[in-house]
Amino acid sequence: VTHWHSPKFHAYFPTANSYPAIVADMLSGAIACIGFTWIASPACTELEVAMMDWLGKMLDLPAEFLASSGGKGGGVIQGTASESTLVALLGAKAKKLQEVKAEHPEWDEHTIIGKLVGYCSDQAHSSVERAGLLGGIKLRSVKSENNRLRGDALEKAIEQDLADGLIPFYAVVTLGTTNSCAFDRLDECGVVGNKHNVWIHVDAAYAGSAFICPEYRHLMKGMERADSFNFNPHKWMLVNFDCSAMWLKDPSWVVNAFNVDPLYLKHDMQGSAPDYRHWQIPLGRRFRALKLWFVLRLYGVENLQAHIRRHCNFAKQFGDLCVQDSRFELAAEVNMGLVCFRLKGTNERNEALLKRINGRGNIHMVPAKINGVYFLR
Ligand code: PLP
Repeated sequence: VTHWHSPKFHAYFPTANSYPAIVADMLSGAIACIGFTWIASPACTELEVAMMDWLGKMLDLPAEFLASSGGKGGGVIQGTASESTLVALLGAKAKKLQEVKAEHPEWDEHTIIGKLVGYCSDQAHSSVERAGLLGGIKLRSVKSENNRLRGDALEKAIEQDLADGLIPFYAVVTLGTTNSCAFDRLDECGVVGNKHNVWIHVDAAYAGSAFICPEYRHLMKGMERADSFNFNPHKWMLVNFDCSAMWLKDPSWVVNAFNVDPLYLKHDMQGSAPDYRHWQIPLGRRFRALKLWFVLRLYGVENLQAHIRRHCNFAKQFGDLCVQDSRFELAAEVNMGLVCFRLKGTNERNEALLKRINGRGNIHMVPAKINGVYFLR
């Protein structure tokens, strides 16, 4: 076993672990229900609706994303951020297909799909490219500026594609990139997305947990312009894998895109509570809301905030040590719990350093490369 919870494990982004989440997972295992519809296990669905609202309020998400606002919006627990990105892409695709069909009844579906184009930055996670492949649409990588996607670059790409007869329909804005924890400018990209009727999906897989702290919320400015938002409490908010929180302003696009209704899944209460099978790719789903409930109740908001702040302070301390040591330099701004650092000098020198560190079997880290510069993270 590679012990991800060893204090010497610094690879990837973290995965969360806590005793309340472990107990909840055991309870979920013991109850062993499959909550694909409300009737299949009402508590499984209803606790999820309530927990996603609690969590949404903890992040101060715009009310349109919350079920309790009385509008269309609401949250769902997916397995991973990759699934959320794909689900949002499929919802956006269904929406644009319907709109274009209404405008051009003479175009067949294949013609329209062939023209669809989505966007993300060159720093987006590989799961975004993969969602494009799985969703069968073109996805364009837009050059970032200082590792962040800016509104004018997104707009230029959209305008160029419109001039070429393509149909822009979807853009992923990353808050906390995998390479360097950079934050795309949601405030700028959201304006561009809304102007061109392009679905904005926000991928905050790792860094989203930090938005429970008010001092980090300036980084999610513009969220009211997004169509869907996702982060992984299973990365940094003490909820064991898997718990990927996703909110949709208008879930009907996703629900309708995935709606197949065999007799054996129908029930009398359809429409009064979400049937989460329509919000996700698989049919089956575990009672994951228990993990969120136990973690939120046992720790409370203030302790979870303290956990985030503690990690950010560790990163700041280590970043300061790198700056003070004349042999080292930072490869990117220290954001959240991530420090990107390197020995001054060549990539080869840094590759040798990492090989030596990992080879000793004591500390484990992974590298990244931005614009040809190799660093340890
Ligand atoms: N998006 C970002 C920004 C990530 O950093 C990661 C993983 O680290 C992912 C997506 C993929 O997450 P998951 O394993 O939940 O699909």
